[in-house]
Amino acid sequence: MYRIWVTEDLDEIGLEWLRGRGAEVEYSRPSYEELLERVGEFDALIVRTNTKVTEEVIARGVPRLKVVGRAGVGFDNIDTDAATRYGVLVLNAPYGYMISTAELTMGLMLALLRKIPLADSYMKKEQWRKRELLGTELYGKVLGIIGVGRIGRQVAIRANAFGMQILGYDPYIRQEDVEKYNVKLLPSLEDLLPQVDILTLHVPLTEETRYMIAERELRMMKKGAFIINCSRGKVIKGSALYKAIVDGHIAGAALDVHETEPPTDWSLAKLPQVIATPHLGSATYEAQHKVAIEVVEEIWMALQGGPVRSSINMPSMPPELYAYLKPYLYLSEKMGQFMGQWIRRPVDEIRLTYIGDVVELPYSLITAAFVKGILDPVLGEPVNYINAVCMAKERGITVTESIEEREGEFTNLVRVEVKVGKEYYEMAGTLVGRNIPKIVEIDGFRVDVEPKGNIILTRHHDRPGMIGKIGSILGENNINIANMYVGRKEIRGEAVMTLCVDEPVPPEVLDKIKTIEGFERVDFISL
Ligand code: NAD
Repeated sequence: MYRIWVTEDLDEIGLEWLRGRGAEVEYSRPSYEELLERVGEFDALIVRTNTKVTEEVIARGVPRLKVVGRAGVGFDNIDTDAATRYGVLVLNAPYGYMISTAELTMGLMLALLRKIPLADSYMKKEQWRKRELLGTELYGKVLGIIGVGRIGRQVAIRANAFGMQILGYDPYIRQEDVEKYNVKLLPSLEDLLPQVDILTLHVPLTEETRYMIAERELRMMKKGAFIINCSRGKVIKGSALYKAIVDGHIAGAALDVHETEPPTDWSLAKLPQVIATPHLGSATYEAQHKVAIEVVEEIWMALQGGPVRSSINMPSMPPELYAYLKPYLYLSEKMGQFMGQWIRRPVDEIRLTYIGDVVELPYSLITAAFVKGILDPVLGEPVNYINAVCMAKERGITVTESIEEREGEFTNLVRVEVKVGKEYYEMAGTLVGRNIPKIVEIDGFRVDVEPKGNIILTRHHDRPGMIGKIGSILGENNINIANMYVGRKEIRGEAVMTLCVDEPVPPEVLDKIKTIEGFERVDFISL
């Protein structure tokens, strides 16, 4: 009989579900010392954010402990690396909150445009002040959704019912993916922002989305536009929003999430044009029920050894094998990140070919690492070696792998080909001296670049003076070149160049490089 320890709040429905299947469920809130003492008596733990599942806890839990389930999304309190090393599966429940957060978004939108909280506050003060409470209809307005994923699509369904026109910005999905939600995707924020009456954000917090709405973006918006944020606080720069509202450029904002929670600076939340709520997206009875069911079903599946939809780490394997595999996983994930930043468009197909020694390894995990590298920066939920390929499939991306045993210049080679519309992007990587990762081919051109740090990648026509010109633009901008490689097939023919630089390259510097005659394409990759 499985013994499951639920150490934080979980809806009763989840406990009943487990007991109904014959599991012995203990529901208590142990201190850290009690947790350490007794964790070894259980097959699974179900936690939220307060139980610290440290390496020490996991070490005491094995061999009986097999799964840790997080009833919710974030898992900062769980040492997932340690769990992986000890072969303990960690999983979460990212779907249960979807509807509740979309409904809160619509609630905030209506409350903001009809000034409902302000009206209510007057009534409570026995004041009948209709004149200053003139509102705005949703009907016919242009709603801009940034991040058209799970929650963004649910918002679109509801906005359609209100007769809104819906535009979207999400560079990682295709128009076909959101056709049925009546969302018209635009290619850039610059295209979206000037058109919208109401902007709502539903992106994960990543390097790319951190402060994606700041002074410049707010200025691009129509005067009198509204903003809703139920995603993550740090996607909007609070000080810039405060200023734009006080200046009268932005009419108002409804914020469920904040730069720090609870806020240390309450000035934005206190503005009369702002409605603020304390991160309530998932605070509904239904979301709590759904999350409880989602997590117990996943835990149950994992205990039976079945496939798990939302696992966070990878399964256990013998340490010797993992030591061999690890540098390939690193290489492949970095190649995926490189490819993702190079392409910056929705991918249709990913093909990996394994050549040489590497075919002896469980290379499906290397495939998963590549897919993780491409998807992880753009999705709101954790992508890992177990769920990466499954998540790619869910997004309509075909992933295939094959092996070739031929001997070539390299003893091992991981070759990837990514199809985007009618175009193909290609890259190959190898391990030098067993564990130094190198990208050795880009689009059929020989290169030699370590996949780390800041890299400028160009496609150009080889001719005298090109390197000097790019070098002087970088020099003028105080960007130091660490190394450089030019790959070409014939003298003065098509070529690629990789330049590893010590500093990040700002977009305006890239734009300057693009003006040099002969450069067809210039990309900046940060790994
Ligand atoms: P999701 O992964 O299903 O969707 C996120 C979408 O954002 C994806 O389609 C992705 O392609 C897109 N995206 C990624 N980077 C982008 C970029 N730079 N520009 C534009 N689009 C980009 O995630 P989800 O489940 O819909 O969750 C969305 C957000 O809502 C997350 O940040 C999550 O943490 C947050 N959330 C908040 C609450 C709350 O209580 N307020 C509850 C649940 C989720």
